[in-house]
Amino acid sequence: MKVTVFGIGYVGLVQAAVLAEVGHDVVCIDVDQNKVDNLEKGIIPIYEPGLTPLVKSNFESGRVKFTTDAKRGVEHGDVIFIAVGTPPDEDGSADLKYVLAVAKTIAEFMPKHKIVINKSTVPVGTADKVSAKISETLAELNKNLTFDVVSNPEFLKEGAAVNDCMRPDRIIIGTNSETAEKKLRELYAPFNRNHDKIIVMDIRSAELTKYAANCMLATKISFMNEMANLAEVFGADIENVRLGIGSDPRIGYQFIYPGCGYGGSCFPKDVQALARSASEAGYTAQILESVEAVNYKQKEKLFGYISAHFNGDLAGKTVALWGLSFKPNTDDMREASSRVLMESLWDAGATVQAYDPEAMEETQRIYNGRSDLRLMGTKEAALEGADFLVICTEWQAFRAPDFELIKEKLKEPLLFDGRNLFEPSRIQEYGLHYYAIGRGLSV
Ligand code: NAD
Repeated sequence: MKVTVFGIGYVGLVQAAVLAEVGHDVVCIDVDQNKVDNLEKGIIPIYEPGLTPLVKSNFESGRVKFTTDAKRGVEHGDVIFIAVGTPPDEDGSADLKYVLAVAKTIAEFMPKHKIVINKSTVPVGTADKVSAKISETLAELNKNLTFDVVSNPEFLKEGAAVNDCMRPDRIIIGTNSETAEKKLRELYAPFNRNHDKIIVMDIRSAELTKYAANCMLATKISFMNEMANLAEVFGADIENVRLGIGSDPRIGYQFIYPGCGYGGSCFPKDVQALARSASEAGYTAQILESVEAVNYKQKEKLFGYISAHFNGDLAGKTVALWGLSFKPNTDDMREASSRVLMESLWDAGATVQAYDPEAMEETQRIYNGRSDLRLMGTKEAALEGADFLVICTEWQAFRAPDFELIKEKLKEPLLFDGRNLFEPSRIQEYGLHYYAIGRGLSV
């Protein structure tokens, strides 16, 4: 099938590569010429396991192409994906300017009927706005054409995006058009072999399903962080509590890890956006507002421990920091907890010596030129001359470190763990002071 994808970001690029891999003929459009030039040279703009070989092989075989030529893209695809960003507006609601710009472009260049598939995460009612924009532009141009707009939200997880797109848990298709449903069933048939994962529903329900899924996941995290804070208040250990509640199959062990807050491009933005659209519709989404508030405070947790340990005197300290990306297996730094921590440490006069397996370049790009940030080549190098160690991201490479070396290198045998990676008694055996989330202040 001829497919066009607007937006070559995490979602658009992975989706395009995976569709090309099963044999579809894909053209990707982006407004970023530099990104397109790099992709044509085999330089992949993001780190995502398995993505580089997939993109390269499909590019070489001609099944996926990259261009900034929107006309060529619109003419090519029978189905056209919109996978551009929907960043938060000033008040937290989703900014639809990129989505609507693509809708206008599609109308300008479409020579015949097209199926427009919205993959970006967008507020309920956006498909109507996309339809209105296309109709309005077609009318201005005196083009008498029909089209369908489908909601097909994306559920991939950064860090496992290729696998999630190759083997999706579900494929949500929001449409009231039989033609569009048939076409999308055909498009996704290669991913639907094991059992039927396609769930067809009305457009508004499909749009809300995406927000509901992310908000449920964010709620689980904030709930556990609230319990971790209560465990501290009451002198309990949240890790015991986690095991105790996870054993109930109605709760389960998945996604109930306490920590120094969630980040990324989706949870913070989507919780806020749904809360804002609720309030615009006259409804106060109390749970969502609390989820956001708890997370905001949780991101300050590590700095709170550190500051309390040093009685607020951090001027001149050198902090070894392991983990910068918002979660493992990605280089994405958007809304990462590490950023909140680093910025508080800098405000307090400390220097950060950081290491991350993948997010160093991105950190360099964001904080270019700061003299109080040193990016180190290995996790061991980050320890050199540091006063203490902080862990912000649970990369595999940090799970079984050489504690003797850590103790030897640090000026003070002190470890702040924002992801509860270790057993406190083990750390104590090495003579390290250990702070973790919800496990009693210092053990
Ligand atoms: P991204 O910022 O990584 O990529 C968006 C791309 O769109 C950029 O390359 C940008 O240059 C391009 N773009 C902007 N305007 C354009 C235009 N008019 N024409 C062509 N290209 C244009 O974004 P992302 O992380 O891929 O997210 C895209 C959407 O998918 C968002 O709505 C997001 O909420 C949603 N989503 C993201 C994830 C994720 O894990 N990142 C998961 C599911 C859903």
